[in-house]
Amino acid sequence: MIEKIISIAFAFFLIKSDSIEKWNVFEKNVRDLKIYKTEAKKQFSVLYKELLEFCATKSFLNNDNWVFPVEGASMNDVGKGGFLPKGYNFYDGNKHRGHAAYDIFIRDNNQDCLHDKTKKPVNIYAPVDLIILSHNFGWKEGSDIRGGNYIWAFNPKAALFFYFAHLDSIKVQNGDLCKKGTAIATLGRSGKNAFPKRSPTHLHFTVLKTDGENLIPYDYIGQLK
Ligand SMILES: [Zn+2]
Repeated sequence: MIEKIISIAFAFFLIKSDSIEKWNVFEKNVRDLKIYKTEAKKQFSVLYKELLEFCATKSFLNNDNWVFPVEGASMNDVGKGGFLPKGYNFYDGNKHRGHAAYDIFIRDNNQDCLHDKTKKPVNIYAPVDLIILSHNFGWKEGSDIRGGNYIWAFNPKAALFFYFAHLDSIKVQNGDLCKKGTAIATLGRSGKNAFPKRSPTHLHFTVLKTDGENLIPYDYIGQLK
């Protein structure tokens, strides 16, 4: 009996480490344009099924009334330029065009990544229940990675992928299940175009909807209000 329990637990562990680890490799390969788009698309549809299978053992309940992702910020802090998905293709990786995101700004005039009023780091929250898929940490000036320190996460119920970019610290690990409202990171200035002085401190927040094959920019502004 105990052996059976151990082997079942081990099987679950394998599924977990497998699909999350596969996404991690896939995401970095797409980012760095190491695989052809047609191949990447094929890999995604296989990987997506595996992720759904893995997530079927977890509960993702809280998908309505999104938690605002930036601590202390509100709709007034959402960049007016806003959502420009034209030309965006996930499979263009670090060279993607368009701006399939909203930028959410904080008051940080001296650019020390602390809020000018509270003098504290600003938390980034999971807007809905999320599983953390992959992240990048250790970005340094001179790196071409546009997202800097970033997190990719997923909500299977909503078929949405979440991308949080220009972070400072990262509080989660790949495979973590985060309930809505969990602090997953703090906001930073990491990333090729976010680091220079001309750029005010902000979260670049993309959400992509999938049909299992394509990843389509999702305009979530209605969910934030
Ligand atoms: Zn942006």
